[in-house]
Amino acid sequence: MPVCLYCQHANPSGETECRRCGMPLPALAGHAAERRQRRFMWFCVGLTLFCVAMFFWLPRSTG
Ligand SMILES: [Zn+2]
Repeated sequence: MPVCLYCQHANPSGETECRRCGMPLPALAGHAAERRQRRFMWFCVGLTLFCVAMFFWLPRSTG
């Protein structure tokens, strides 16, 4: 049961916004931020792997 940070109203679980004041509930907001952070981390990992693959795959000019 997520409690609103702004009006302390206890909302039923599954709600995305406070039923009394309409503000986004903290549990869901934190989860979304965590998911965004994880997506960014995987983007960095993919970019690194892409650079490494290009480094080995591209033909060397001085061979
Ligand atoms: Zn509220």
